[in-house]
Amino acid sequence: MELDWGIGIRNVKEWLLDGLFPANIYCICCGNLIDKTRPYALCDSCLENLNWANARTCIKCGKVLNETDKRRLLDEIGQTHQLCDHCKQNRHFFERGFTCMQYSTMAKEMIHHFKFNGCAYMGDKLGKIMLDRIRLEQLSVDLVVAVPMHPKNRRKRGYNQSELLAKVVAEGLGVVYNSQVLIRRQYKAPMNKLGAEQRYANIQNAYALAGNAAFLQSKSVLLIDDIYTTGSTVDECSRLLKEAGAGVIYVLTLAAGAN
Ligand SMILES: [Zn+2]
Ligand SMILES: [Zn+2]
Repeated sequence: MELDWGIGIRNVKEWLLDGLFPANIYCICCGNLIDKTRPYALCDSCLENLNWANARTCIKCGKVLNETDKRRLLDEIGQTHQLCDHCKQNRHFFERGFTCMQYSTMAKEMIHHFKFNGCAYMGDKLGKIMLDRIRLEQLSVDLVVAVPMHPKNRRKRGYNQSELLAKVVAEGLGVVYNSQVLIRRQYKAPMNKLGAEQRYANIQNAYALAGNAAFLQSKSVLLIDDIYTTGSTVDECSRLLKEAGAGVIYVLTLAAGAN
């Protein structure tokens, strides 16, 4: 029998590199060397330059409000609530959404790396960011659910990035992570290649409830996804969860696009 040295050598090299330079001493965003004490395995520069969603945000979806919205807010004396343009015109099935950062070029590259370069280890660090973000809200949550991937896509990638994030959040909150209740039904083109209308059409019937979901009755669910754009994905999942009897649904994403 002949050994496949190509694969063997690569594995040994990876093993050596892993031993000499464990994954958590590189910044997960720019790849620069950092020391282990850096929060979320981000270097000072990335920590400072990622667009954290710590400005005024939409009270419905959690997106950072754009400048026009902020100006309008200043004009409206006594007005303490504000919605983004999208939420003013679109209804959502979830109660409230929260996000950690804006989907800037930096965030985009980092999340792309997490999703498409086999960097499952990043889930721990990014999940911790989400956990710290949602802890601030002091929500009452019964269970955590992730937006599911089609098994074919999941097999191809080796993991569902939203599931990795959800597990970290659930563990940190001390609640159950449920991977059974929602399923991805269709195998279609990745959503990021579609426009808003196609995205909406694609989402119809894309998700389903898996079997008996009676346990969801009146439960408070925290739904996790990596990116929030129009909200169509989390909306469809929320609609199904509500249909099954879920009481309150909160949505938590790592990054959200602009209005
Ligand atoms: Zn960095
Ligand atoms: Zn909004």
